[in-house]
Amino acid sequence: MMQANPPLKFLDENALDFQDHRRQGMTDFDRLVADVVDQDLCLQCGVCVGICPVACLEMRGEEHPLPALVQGRECVDCTLCVRACPREHEYLEEYSIKLFGRAPTPDELAGAVKETYGGHMTDRRIWKSAAGGGLISGLSIYLLESGRVDGVIMCGMSETEPWKVIPRIVRNRDEMLANTSSHYVTVPINQILQQIRLEPHKKYALVGSGCHINGIRNAQFAPDPGPEMVKQIIFTMGLMCGGNRVPGYTLQLLRDMGINEPREVTKFSFRGGAGSSAIAALKNGEVRGTLGHFGSDIRRLDPLYESGGCTLCIDFFANLADITIGDYMQKMSIAFVRSDLGVEVMHGAIEKGYVDVDPTIYDFDGNRHDRIRHNVKKRVTFTLIDDRKRKELPHPDYGASYRDPSSYWRSEFDRRFFLLLRWLAKQRWFRAFYTRLPVRLQWGFGVVWASRQLFAGETWPNWSGLFGKITSGKKTEITDQVLDKVLERQRKTRDKRAQAVSRS
Ligand SMILES: Cc1cc2nc3c(=O)[nH]c(=O)nc-3n(C[C@H](O)[C@H](O)[C@H](O)COP(=O)(O)OP(=O)(O)OC[C@H]3O[C@@H](n4cnc5c(N)ncnc54)[C@H](O)[C@@H]3O)c2cc1C
Ligand code: SF4
Ligand code: SF4
Ligand code: SF4
Repeated sequence: MMQANPPLKFLDENALDFQDHRRQGMTDFDRLVADVVDQDLCLQCGVCVGICPVACLEMRGEEHPLPALVQGRECVDCTLCVRACPREHEYLEEYSIKLFGRAPTPDELAGAVKETYGGHMTDRRIWKSAAGGGLISGLSIYLLESGRVDGVIMCGMSETEPWKVIPRIVRNRDEMLANTSSHYVTVPINQILQQIRLEPHKKYALVGSGCHINGIRNAQFAPDPGPEMVKQIIFTMGLMCGGNRVPGYTLQLLRDMGINEPREVTKFSFRGGAGSSAIAALKNGEVRGTLGHFGSDIRRLDPLYESGGCTLCIDFFANLADITIGDYMQKMSIAFVRSDLGVEVMHGAIEKGYVDVDPTIYDFDGNRHDRIRHNVKKRVTFTLIDDRKRKELPHPDYGASYRDPSSYWRSEFDRRFFLLLRWLAKQRWFRAFYTRLPVRLQWGFGVVWASRQLFAGETWPNWSGLFGKITSGKKTEITDQVLDKVLERQRKTRDKRAQAVSRS
């Protein structure tokens, strides 16, 4: 077994004043609600629920689940949930020094990276259903089968309510097959801490977005005596994450398919349909899909359903994960390895044949999509934080990474117009009106599209949405032939790169 991360001191103890709210008769959880939940800053990571020593919290709600007190239980003012919440504080640079020995330079968008790889997992059965190259699944199976961990904490579709995504612990290859792929709604993965504390001798890896990892890091760095169960998480894998939506997004996709009663659904996938559209199987044997490809659906609904916490997130690259994985090209993954443990795990998985990867140079200009997503994310976040500061509203503290948002905008008019669009997208009446428009019109509709993409160097409005190809309801099979073509494309890319290197 590997050793757990060494216990570290909480870094900015002074930033958290626990006396003010107590003087006003509030509990620590009341403070979390006032600072985060009531301010629409919660990103549903679940760490507050998972970490509570008296298990007095739960996630409550269907469309937009939020932490709430379990009826009949009381907060005992232990401060842990406030300390761990990634919306109360997020110390990307400071923790990077503690974990990986250095802070990233301003040019290192992906954090303090030691090694970068591009490639895929080798078990084709799982690779076919994975989000990209299945590197997360491949590395997870290696961690399990080499006995390094007893389980991998991640998320998957619920068996009893198949339109919902729930946290779970995967313990073997078959369970991995059932839980692979990306699910495009927020999931309180970290609430699973309540479960792992029951078996304190077991060790785990955790897969999550930046926010999940940051919540775990806050808890791991809490002052002694910190919560014991977070030391059971000895390895973390992060997803590159451009933004996320509350579970109400899934219900809207179902309504768009004409399914008003989710209980009719027997299977749901966010990207299983033609053109990577969402697809649902019904009890009566019918299979229905949304009109359009995944990108269009994300874009037409994003500003309406985007979690408030996600709009204030800068952590596209899950900067505090031992390894972060993203999409490199279709069915291929990119991996950023940051810690010594990450290097050891990646090398072990390569050697034992779990993954087939090449060291690669990640070219941000070549991967324009990621650069834009990263920049849009920061632009949106710092502009909204600045707006909250001006209105004296609570906001996350990114310490040294805070940047003057006016530098992102050509004029004050642009900034104000953007804020107006964001406001509009959050109004209930607007959501009701907009979601009744024909889907094609929603794709091309400038206001919603623009509220995220405006001035980011992308087309506006989404003309391809208005006039582009419509797909619906057909399942897309990833076959061996598809994977063979992906490998052929990868081989050509490798050859070109090798030629370029030998010429230079
Ligand atoms: C909301 C969201 C936004 C993303 N945005 C981008 C992006 O802009 N650019 C990019 O390159 N990649 C993005 N990704 C990551 C990408 O979709 C793949 O998940 C990643 O490349 C891993 O691929 P893989 O084939 O190795 O994963 P797999 O082997 O298929 O494993 C996927 C893993 O992701 C976990 N997972 C699925 N959904 C969630 C979720 N909602 N929250 C936390 N964990 C989850 C699963 O539990 C599983 O362990 C995003 C993922 C999500 C969930
Ligand atoms: S973690 Fe501690 S402070 Fe938070 S709700 Fe539970 S008892 Fe209260
Ligand atoms: S962001 Fe996470 S820790 Fe903070 S209130 Fe929401 S669920 Fe709890
Ligand atoms: S956008 Fe940020 S807060 Fe939201 S799910 Fe992704 S990493 Fe978490």
